[in-house]
Amino acid sequence: MSRTPFIAGNWKMNLDHLQAIALVQKVAWALKDARHDASEVEVAVFPPFTDLRSVQTLISADKIPLGLGAQDVSPHESGAYTGDVSARFLAKLDAQYVIVGHSERRAGHGETDEVVSAKSVAAQAAGIVPVICVGETAEDLEEHGAAAIPAAQLRAAIADLPDGAEFVVAYEPVWAIGTGNAATPEQAQEVCRALRDVLREACGDDTADATRVLYGGSVSSQNVAAYMRQADVDGALVGGASIKADEFSRIVQFKK
Ligand code: PGA
Repeated sequence: MSRTPFIAGNWKMNLDHLQAIALVQKVAWALKDARHDASEVEVAVFPPFTDLRSVQTLISADKIPLGLGAQDVSPHESGAYTGDVSARFLAKLDAQYVIVGHSERRAGHGETDEVVSAKSVAAQAAGIVPVICVGETAEDLEEHGAAAIPAAQLRAAIADLPDGAEFVVAYEPVWAIGTGNAATPEQAQEVCRALRDVLREACGDDTADATRVLYGGSVSSQNVAAYMRQADVDGALVGGASIKADEFSRIVQFKK
């Protein structure tokens, strides 16, 4: 079963909408030059909410082969939820993806597995593919090994999704995010493999074989190819390196 490799740029709280346009224009050049054609690798950016409309307009006007996603979504459909943004609003802006369960939201905003599950369901119901982030802290790693916590987080996040729902999984060890201390390709493979086993058990072979499992945590142009060579790593969720045009351009042009 072949899965289209996926490179996702999580900008986090960086770049205002004008800076966003400049970055996307530069990345568009790299995508044009890329050795891959669009069917070989899929690339998407995840800007802050305030940038989405500008980036969407640019992508559609210039027909840039770049997917668009948001960094968070409300678990609610609409109503008295000050500050929340609904999946339906994101869908109206042609967002195809949304990140849910990023460790920065789990840690900084108290997002529980239940909230992550509700957000995944809300996204899916609006036709948006959730990119479900899971990962262990350094303490978890010492206490439980690498796979146990991410596997439990994944089971919880997908529990209420309907059969056949499309989603993406991102394995992001918390100790590797923004630290320069990336997991080895072998470590990434081992946990991504374990996560695929969770999918096999919970959703069956078709979903397990079709679902893309990404690695994230200090991915750079230097290490991306080594991850992409792993059998169960189908792409990368890139943070810091995704807001540097040259570096992100090199990443999307990775050669296995
Ligand atoms: P990083 O972040 O690439 O800066 O480590 C990854 C992420 O948090 O998605």
